[in-house]
Amino acid sequence: MAEGVLSQATVNGSEELPFRAWFGCSAGCSGELPLNQIIYNCPRCGALLDVYHDLSVLRRRSPAEWKQLFDDRYRRTTYPYGSAVWGKKEMVCPAVDNTNVVSMYEGGSNLFWAERFGKQIGLEDLWVKQCGNAHTGSFKDLGMTVLVSMVKQMIAEGIPIPAVACASTGDTSAALAAYCAAAGIPAIVILPRNRVSTAQLIQPMANGALTLSLDTDFDGCMRVVRELCTRENIYLANSMNSLRLEGQKTVSIEIVQQFDWEVPDVVIVPGGNLGNITAIGRGFLLMRDLGIIDRLPRLVCAQAERANPLYRSFLTGFTKYQPIRAKKTLASAIQIGNPVSIEKAIKVLQVFDSLVEQASEEELADAAALADRTGLFNCPHTGVALAVLLKLVARGQIHPRERVVVIATAHGLKFTDFKRRYHEGKLRGIASRYANRPIELPADYGKARDAILRALAERGGGI
Ligand SMILES: *Cc1c(COP(=O)(O)O)cnc(C)c1O
Ligand SMILES: [Zn+2]
Repeated sequence: MAEGVLSQATVNGSEELPFRAWFGCSAGCSGELPLNQIIYNCPRCGALLDVYHDLSVLRRRSPAEWKQLFDDRYRRTTYPYGSAVWGKKEMVCPAVDNTNVVSMYEGGSNLFWAERFGKQIGLEDLWVKQCGNAHTGSFKDLGMTVLVSMVKQMIAEGIPIPAVACASTGDTSAALAAYCAAAGIPAIVILPRNRVSTAQLIQPMANGALTLSLDTDFDGCMRVVRELCTRENIYLANSMNSLRLEGQKTVSIEIVQQFDWEVPDVVIVPGGNLGNITAIGRGFLLMRDLGIIDRLPRLVCAQAERANPLYRSFLTGFTKYQPIRAKKTLASAIQIGNPVSIEKAIKVLQVFDSLVEQASEEELADAAALADRTGLFNCPHTGVALAVLLKLVARGQIHPRERVVVIATAHGLKFTDFKRRYHEGKLRGIASRYANRPIELPADYGKARDAILRALAERGGGI
């Protein structure tokens, strides 16, 4: 059987077709490279690689057949198709044999109808895609399952890979460590010291990854890991490895699926290294090319003001781009001044009716806290997206009846330091307008009762 061909009949009623995907140059040079080759850049021009799919084979199934197949598999138990990534395997990474798939049931996350928050800000149809409700607490699992599965397959084929490594702002390393631990593959994670949350540091430690904490920022860690992987045959797990984007693009397919195959009007994505906005854009483009959807949503990338190279480029109509030195931001996972996927992201954003907006530290912290009051529990990056949403609604750039999806990228429980400091009023330069502090009292019924009644009266029945 030819390389890259799905080597077994798929389950749930689908027949075998010669699905095929390969690496190709993202800048357009010709040539196909197999997905089991250790390579990240085009051998001709040095641009990053992309994963390409044989669309002519994918088109042999009708849009109705694809939807039916995906619905049949969604969140069921037939391994690995119950994972929302592997349930779309033919469009993600058909070359991986099911016996090599390393899956922890990715995706299938709640599409939260933010009814109360939406009403407060004047939207009827606001949704938050809870990508942080995942095994390691962020959307990074969606891509990492694909990458680590491919590595497992390569090792099974006899390709010598001593370890898999990544530089990380905290969530990539957690995902890499967990998937490698599940597969029994050594993982190396390189983190910027004092720039990731406690939970994010503990995750790779707990999963047994070799954890390096370097005195630099993310961009500095990235330089080290690139050199390490170039020289030592160690496999690179950063999103410049386009296998990860293949898994992440299933978020768009899943959102449309959760709306019974209807396309939302606007999707807002917080962006740092810009792999996710690229992947989400591509998911929509793939569905359109296969006739599964007939229009595209507007795409909004939300950046932290203190790490905003894409926003600056957007202001020039994407005619100019300059890497910057990112300043420290509460949205630590997007504190990136020189995004790896900048060219890919701009290319995708130019296909869509898109825009880029930024949020200050106070705006992101307040937006996260305000939305938390309606039942969410937002990480600071989701706070950036929510703050941008508030701006666009206030300016009339999003209309009250539009269906809007905000991508929540991580679970708030990974960022309790941020939340505690917000509610204690200890974030420098931030007034903590929506702080909710505990009332500390002696263990006395009367005092507790008085405090409760006083507080309820102050709130006037609201929360
Ligand atoms: C990685 C990450 C992002 C940014 O995604 P990019 O693909 O780097 O743009 C945003 N939020 C969280 C929580 C992340 O872990
Ligand atoms: Zn090239």
